[in-house]
Amino acid sequence: MSENTDNDSEKAQLRKDALTYMIPHFANNASLLTKGPKILTKGEGCYVYDIDGRRYLDTFASLLTTICGHHRAEVADAINEQMRQLEFFPNYEDTYTIPLIKLAKKLAELMPGDLSVSFFVNSGSEANETAIKIARQYHAERGQPHRYKIIARKHSFHGTTLGGVSATGIPWFRAHFEPLLPGMIFAPAARGGDFEPEPEPGTVGLDSLAAVKALIEWEGPETISAIIMDPIPGSNTGFPLPPEGYLKGIRELCDRYGILLIFDEVQTGFGKTGKWFACQHWDVFPDIMTIGKGFTGGYIPLAAAVMTPKVADEFRKAPGHELRSGGTYGGHTLACAATLANISIIERYKLVEKAAAMGEYLKAELEKLYECPLTGNVRGLGLLWAIQLMADRQSRKKLDPKLSVGGWVRDWCYTHGMILRNNGDILVIAPALVITREEVDVMLGLLRQAIQAAAEHFGLLAHTA
Ligand code: PLP
Repeated sequence: MSENTDNDSEKAQLRKDALTYMIPHFANNASLLTKGPKILTKGEGCYVYDIDGRRYLDTFASLLTTICGHHRAEVADAINEQMRQLEFFPNYEDTYTIPLIKLAKKLAELMPGDLSVSFFVNSGSEANETAIKIARQYHAERGQPHRYKIIARKHSFHGTTLGGVSATGIPWFRAHFEPLLPGMIFAPAARGGDFEPEPEPGTVGLDSLAAVKALIEWEGPETISAIIMDPIPGSNTGFPLPPEGYLKGIRELCDRYGILLIFDEVQTGFGKTGKWFACQHWDVFPDIMTIGKGFTGGYIPLAAAVMTPKVADEFRKAPGHELRSGGTYGGHTLACAATLANISIIERYKLVEKAAAMGEYLKAELEKLYECPLTGNVRGLGLLWAIQLMADRQSRKKLDPKLSVGGWVRDWCYTHGMILRNNGDILVIAPALVITREEVDVMLGLLRQAIQAAAEHFGLLAHTA
């Protein structure tokens, strides 16, 4: 069966088989049962095509991965070339491959602070799980095995493996799977909604920082192994920026109490915020950083926990102290070749600088959406933006979740040729770094029309800014 079949019965069979033979990740049954599966067959830049030949502007870059766009010949060539030499050999015990070594060295050059030693895995969840293991064993190696607790934050997402879920502070992901990893404790997120009553604007950073300090002291600093956080929480909560002084304060707490700091930049890394890494906006650097998603440009899965030499040296000081972790495919040879090509595209075309400039334009244009009905809040940085739909912006009245207005907007966009991500009533935009000004304008035009159409459809036109 050809990929781009024109045969209706073949298409119908594919749709049936899709529903019969697999369960998609985070399946959307409401959509699957009423509209059936969407089958994508081709990609080009920021666009993808479905099995019927319809074209879609992908404003979420294939789940925040394809940052250099689809169908880059440079990446395909790099994979092909490596495939002809050696498709795979594991990074195991004492064996390495050339792309793996080159990638590790390249990362050491790119990563901020002292981060320069990588441990490669296959997914962001695995990277976070590994970071937790690194932190625990690090303290054990230093004669402090009682430091096993990990502080994570409410509302942050760190993955779906049991370790990743254990660090995730969003109840929906945790339900049905408890009891999870022991020793995971949760601090409030650094944003207003976590405090009752809502504090004065400007005090949230200090309040949430004080809450982390109080938690450390209550639990006993000598029991805490690491703090894991996403410097900018991700698409699930609509990219709330850390309040001024918060990250610096967290770093100081970690230093004062001998706690390792883990930044999860799986979502925010590799240029999406207009800098290579989000933490560079605040000049605060962790002891371990986890990366994934855009790292590979979406071509072949690869992720990593990158640590400072101070951390890494605990695992290479002598026989018997090696990090007790690993998997068959971590640091897959082809994935490393693809990732090196992806990074070289980012550098050659100055995509990080371009993302910063496009981000300024996007910010200015998205803020004009406040003129539209339903637009409650617009926030983000670089090419990561979220629009929170609300029934009324002035009174901060939320929409009735049962209406599923965000889902309606997403579906409207899909029908009109655009893939838009929604988390409930938060619309999320995170296009590829290669998005052009014309494509941004198409995106903004459709977004505006979609929100207007939703307001009319739900009879919510009354609200204006
Ligand atoms: N951490 C963050 C901040 C993420 O956004 C994600 C994925 O969305 C993950 C971790 C998990 O990555 P993966 O889906 O590759 O396991």
